[in-house]
Amino acid sequence: MKIHFLGGVREVGGSCIAVESNGDKVALDYGIKVGEKVSNQLPTDFAAVIISHAHLDHSGSLLSLSGGNPVIVGSRITRDVTADLLRDMVKIQHMNGNGFPYAKQDVNSIEKSWWVRDRVALPGMSIRLYPAGHVAGATMIGIHAEGKEILYTGDFCLHDTEILEGSRPEDLPKNPDVLIVESTYGGKERPPRKELIDQLFKHILRTIERKGNVLIPAFAFHRSQEMAKRIDQAMKNGVLPKYNVYTISNLAHKITGYFNSHRQFFTEEIQKQKSPFDYKYVRQLYRTQQIREPAIVICTSGFGHAGASLHLLSEWADQEDNSVVINSGYLPPDSPLRIAKEKGELVENGRTIPVQAEVEQIELSGHADQAELIQLVTTLKPDKTFLVHGELEQAEALSDKISELTEVYIPNPRENIAM
Ligand SMILES: [Zn+2]
Repeated sequence: MKIHFLGGVREVGGSCIAVESNGDKVALDYGIKVGEKVSNQLPTDFAAVIISHAHLDHSGSLLSLSGGNPVIVGSRITRDVTADLLRDMVKIQHMNGNGFPYAKQDVNSIEKSWWVRDRVALPGMSIRLYPAGHVAGATMIGIHAEGKEILYTGDFCLHDTEILEGSRPEDLPKNPDVLIVESTYGGKERPPRKELIDQLFKHILRTIERKGNVLIPAFAFHRSQEMAKRIDQAMKNGVLPKYNVYTISNLAHKITGYFNSHRQFFTEEIQKQKSPFDYKYVRQLYRTQQIREPAIVICTSGFGHAGASLHLLSEWADQEDNSVVINSGYLPPDSPLRIAKEKGELVENGRTIPVQAEVEQIELSGHADQAELIQLVTTLKPDKTFLVHGELEQAEALSDKISELTEVYIPNPRENIAM
């Protein structure tokens, strides 16, 4: 058996791992790096490509498979959301007019070759998917071949959130021969989620008391619905007073529709509700002109590069009554949110606007932190553990903590390991 680490090694982005056994070759994820259009370096000669979840760093290179050879395997929400994100990517690349070689028909062809399954048998290996708790429809991937068990975690989270159950390590294969595990936060411990949520509500309350606007940039997939549901629930329970609350993002609204029609992916509490993502206090808007201030607005893009979040940032940032909540842990260096947070300014169309609004980063992540990563390894007791999807520093910090529990290795980019 061979494991070929094709991408997402010693860094976050472009995840892709090939596993080859008995003449069968499969890819675990097929992602792009941030800023890349489509990876041209990934091989295409796979029997199957398994996608762990619908983030583009795990699925964004699929367009290069639109010729239709390998089957693509993943959950229904992963398929539907990936297709929407790829269509969005095609649209943006064509608007930028830089000769992007794919069209919307290529996305249709990807959808056609997608098998919505949680088990697949190839002649020489069997594959099984397990809930990963990272975003709706996210899975870990288990492979059984040559009498060996491999488990690839993709991105995962062990603790429950308001809308999604965490992954349950006791339901995963015990003593795998190989565990391939993400290490995004291999060196980081986070405060309990309840503390972070309290911090968020306090921040919103402070802004409401001074009748300010709250801008919450969020990703269209999962983070936007999770935030809207959280605020809606807090208003129903009286934790937050009633206030204008809006979501603005066509893509997020479309994804909210999938969430309502696939409640089985969510917590028992969500499954009991008829249309859990039709909110009582949160309204969907299509344009920023429809906002009645003061308001709480959840909108895209998640890092403030474009869309309603960039527009509202430039409208609201110079007033100290307003506030901005950054709920992502990672911010790209060139992102308006990062510049607003670190330098206290916003540059738009050559104009520099001083940021007077209160900017607070409250990291409501869907990734395991160091304690959860150690918990997974302690429960599963793998013989060998490969650390991927994390900066080298993070992977090394985790390696130090688990080296007495398992044989740990941090692969090099494109390293091919025979088992
Ligand atoms: Zn992810």
